[in-house]
Amino acid sequence: MEPLPARAAAGIATGSAVPEGADAVVPVERVVDHGDRVEILEPAVTGQHIRPRGGDAREGDVAASAGTRLGAAHIGALAAVGIGEVQCSVRPRVAVLATGSELRPAGESLAFGQIYESNREMIATVLRAAGADVKVMPVVEDDEGAHQAALERGLAADVLVTSGGVSMGPHDLVRRVAADLGVEEVFWGVAIKPGKPLSFGVRGATLVFGLPGNPVSSLVGSLVFARPALLERQGLAGAHSGYEHGRSTIALRRNPQRDEFVRARRRLDEDAVVLTPVTGQESHMIVRAAAADALIHVPRGGGEIAAGTPIRYLRIE
Ligand code: AMP
Ligand code: MG
Repeated sequence: MEPLPARAAAGIATGSAVPEGADAVVPVERVVDHGDRVEILEPAVTGQHIRPRGGDAREGDVAASAGTRLGAAHIGALAAVGIGEVQCSVRPRVAVLATGSELRPAGESLAFGQIYESNREMIATVLRAAGADVKVMPVVEDDEGAHQAALERGLAADVLVTSGGVSMGPHDLVRRVAADLGVEEVFWGVAIKPGKPLSFGVRGATLVFGLPGNPVSSLVGSLVFARPALLERQGLAGAHSGYEHGRSTIALRRNPQRDEFVRARRRLDEDAVVLTPVTGQESHMIVRAAAADALIHVPRGGGEIAAGTPIRYLRIE
């Protein structure tokens, strides 16, 4: 296009390049076309309706930094700067299995001493939300051979998460069989409630989380231990800072020995987040826990945390 002389105008479409020499764009509805000249109905200000080159991003600006979980705007931003491909971390492959001869799948009827298996899909849900490609494996009987076969299969994944069988009872076979299969235990026993007998080990690059079988212990263990590990493994920046801040509506008694994760309901009061613990805080009470959407972290210690004191919590998604 020819450069525009002084005091001249040219018609362009929205989004077109501005002709050389032009220094403002006037919307067509603010203009009267007299054929040989155009009348501009209100004064034009230099630069108006012109988007300067580099106005959104300049050379060297970052459209999406490393360690970002790509959301809709990041995808748009990358495309807008001409990037069609980025290097992403691979979703960790996670195997989830549950141990316990008393466990039956939903839908079957229960004999005396049997209960429904409730942990595998729950753990899988937490870990899928953390980016994992989860494979839910069959329930494993409290039998050494069954444990060997199942754990060996599970160890082919990047991360193996088991439920049950990590306490001190004669049926608790997970740690011993895992050790026989070459898993090096990094720790067993954590000072948190619920979830005390939780174990963690590694075999080569495979991480092994042994979550206690009580359903709320499995939920807390997957949120507090397995989830951050998965985020970290995917290179997500700030993977450990999943905690948010709020205040409890009631006093929280502190446990002298263990940090507690108290199931609570979260709501907004004005602009502040307030949390109210749900009734039923025992580690088997998963139905009660389902009324909660947050886990308040109550650090171990004496006395109680008064109502209204700032506390931190994790969301139960
Ligand atoms: P464990 O950690 O195997 O000693 O199990 C502790 C308690 O949780 C026992 O009452 C088990 O019956 C129960 N439990 C273990 N695994 C599951 C599961 N997958 N679903 C529901 N309850 C379980
Ligand atoms: Mg068991």
